[in-house]
Amino acid sequence: MKRVLVWVILFAMPVRSSLARQSTRSASVGQLGENAQVRAALAWFAPNLVWINDQQARLTEIPAPAFQEGQRAAVLKTLFSAAGLTVQVDATGNVIGELRGVNEKEIVVLSAHLDTVFPAGTDVKVRHEGSRMLAPGISDNGTGLAALAAIARALQEAQIKPQRTILFVADVGEEGEGNLRGMRALVDAYRSRLKAVIVLDGAGTDHVTTIALASRRLEVIISGPGGHSWSDFGMPNPINALVRGSMRFINTKVPGSPRTTFNLGQIDGGTSINSIPYQARLKVDVRSESESELARLESALRESMAAGVRDEMESPRDRSRGKLEWKVELLGSRPGGELAAGSPLLAALRASDAMVENESRIERSSTDANIPLSLGIDAISIGAGGNGGGAHSLQEWYDPAGREMGLKRALLTLLGVAEVAPERPK
Ligand SMILES: [Zn+2]
Repeated sequence: MKRVLVWVILFAMPVRSSLARQSTRSASVGQLGENAQVRAALAWFAPNLVWINDQQARLTEIPAPAFQEGQRAAVLKTLFSAAGLTVQVDATGNVIGELRGVNEKEIVVLSAHLDTVFPAGTDVKVRHEGSRMLAPGISDNGTGLAALAAIARALQEAQIKPQRTILFVADVGEEGEGNLRGMRALVDAYRSRLKAVIVLDGAGTDHVTTIALASRRLEVIISGPGGHSWSDFGMPNPINALVRGSMRFINTKVPGSPRTTFNLGQIDGGTSINSIPYQARLKVDVRSESESELARLESALRESMAAGVRDEMESPRDRSRGKLEWKVELLGSRPGGELAAGSPLLAALRASDAMVENESRIERSSTDANIPLSLGIDAISIGAGGNGGGAHSLQEWYDPAGREMGLKRALLTLLGVAEVAPERPK
């Protein structure tokens, strides 16, 4: 989850009027609360909270760096099978569990990403402090994965047959350089039948992401001949050039509105303290509410690095000793998009909020929902309940208190768009 709170609409004011408006539009969501099967599914969570916590800890303790999600995926596969779903793993590594609906031509996806930002070798053992669980990835996205398994189980226990087919998906490649590859493949495969995508990412019930923030990930690579720190002194140095270029780029002015950000996130290069490096690399993440600001910032990065290399080439004492090459590569690009205010998915979410007595605000952020939203397919990203913090840090924590509300909210939203088929007479 890479949540960036940009603008906030507090729904305290329009809650009453919008609920009245939505009640006609999504009568089926309002009726869910009266459906005995749905009530049974909602009632499954409370007595099984310990099981859900245990699944979350167990999944979090299986490392899942980008492109290495296989082991964690295998456990999700088992959990989906145990919940009665028909399971397959696609070529990208997404685990897809199908709950067939009456209408197989229309699909609703409930997804949670498998991967974490933590490299292989990170200690992911879960520690407990009071009611909190602590481990890298425990909240983002241990919470979403545990909820995915729990909701599948709740529907199974209540023997719910949906009207539309539901796909439970534990997908790969959401974080960083995964570049949303799992969601891209999924949407590609089901696009013509896909009616809505609900992404579970991290903790909380305070927000609903309906606006996909556009972003780009870039890598600067500067190369030179390399040499000895003493005998080759004066030779152009890629790290020097990178530092010179970075200093220029850091001073680039970005507007507060449309909000635009950049981050120099990772820097690599050099082989030893007494060698002039032959290469220096820098990874930069740029985000904006505006595609044109994004393009402007990418140009600024290229210009800054060109200038940094020029500065370094002009300064060496011995100019005959090799030159620098540089390039900027696009590692990833996330398209923007926005859910229509009148969409049935947002109405279902709002109705679910009302049923569990929750209030949530609209957020703009970069998540798996970017892909469907950019293609005009209804999608949201929400937290799966409880509280968490320190996402993407080694201090990450999760507190399951209040998780039940998040699970009910997600289940009701899912059934609000998938709809429940009438029970067959016994
Ligand atoms: Zn996440």
